[in-house]
Amino acid sequence: MPALDLSLVSATGVAANAVDPSDVDALSRNTDIEALRLPPDADLSEIVDALPRIQSIFVEFAAFTDGRGFSLARLLRLRHGYTGLLVADGQLIPDQFAFALQCGFDAVRIADRELARHTPEAWDAALDAFDLTYQRGYAVKPGPATSIFDARLTAMEERKTDDPFFGLGAEAALRRAIAQHDGDIFLASSLGADSAVLLHMVSRIRPDLPIYFLDTGKHFRQTLAYRDTLIEQLGLTNFINVRPDRDELIEQDPTGALHEAEPDACCALRKVRPLASAVGHFGAQITGRKRYQTPERANMPIYEPLDGADGEPGMVKINPLGYWTAKDVTAYIRRHNLPPHPMFALGYLSIGCQPCTTRVAEGEDPRAGRWRNQGKTECGIHMVDGKWQPLEKKETFEAF
Ligand code: SF4
Repeated sequence: MPALDLSLVSATGVAANAVDPSDVDALSRNTDIEALRLPPDADLSEIVDALPRIQSIFVEFAAFTDGRGFSLARLLRLRHGYTGLLVADGQLIPDQFAFALQCGFDAVRIADRELARHTPEAWDAALDAFDLTYQRGYAVKPGPATSIFDARLTAMEERKTDDPFFGLGAEAALRRAIAQHDGDIFLASSLGADSAVLLHMVSRIRPDLPIYFLDTGKHFRQTLAYRDTLIEQLGLTNFINVRPDRDELIEQDPTGALHEAEPDACCALRKVRPLASAVGHFGAQITGRKRYQTPERANMPIYEPLDGADGEPGMVKINPLGYWTAKDVTAYIRRHNLPPHPMFALGYLSIGCQPCTTRVAEGEDPRAGRWRNQGKTECGIHMVDGKWQPLEKKETFEAF
């Protein structure tokens, strides 16, 4: 079987060693099944018991007009909780790529002769050019399955927004923002579990865009190694490490233990003030915030102008991933074969400074591991009237 770590896989035919649902022997043996081939009219009741042992399922698409494979994928993911690799295999066209990912597929595999007509670049580009109904996150919400008719209604409802960037795919929104605020826009990256997505997009659009990283002096060494890997692999040429003021550090945190007694003061010293002085002159900031993360972000636009002092316009926040779900992030990372944060596989789903980050148990909110048992949930960086300010309502805001 070919390596399947990309979302678009070029190969001819179905995996050579794939079994099919009529192979009762293979399904009933209590051993792992590397790959299963499913025709579009498959009866899932025949394979449900074997699902936990099946590593990958190839759903056949005999023609792009046959949508039964999408229904199979949704049933496998939502009703039967299948967590293995799910591949749409066969006669798909680029217009169906985003919808396939939304339905739960991890990858699309098409025959080489089809790739001669629609190149991988065409498939990539198609993700950003789809009708809103198929656009990632805009219409199909996380949660129970949504019919295509529900999705269209939702999309029509969402269109009423006055967000000028509404309807753009993430990369298209980022491209437009960088062009619109040329020379006056930056990305603040936390080098967390999701950060590779925006860094990768920036590398494709403007690798010399200013990218600021708060080098607090308290990060995991794996985070610093991850930073160096991404900079080199993505060819980022304007990466800026922002460090705390040396004199303030000596004066306010001589032993390096301020985070234990006064975490807010520590964040102010190591994050809030250094970032404020580094980026205060910019007019626009790119963030990785997403609508699904908190109730306060549920209506967040992609293009988010903030009020400035004295009625003047303040800084603009650009949230290209605003409509993305966690699954979109995973799909993007897989599709572009981006390296994951080394701590992620160890159960650290939200990654900050080492003393203030712990593992997250299964089923816990990913951010539960930050400042655990300290009554603190955010680092305290906030933009008020176009200026960086310490945060008063700490429970509702995350800068990155
Ligand atoms: S996250 Fe913890 S160690 Fe890092 S700056 Fe804040 S309090 Fe200090």
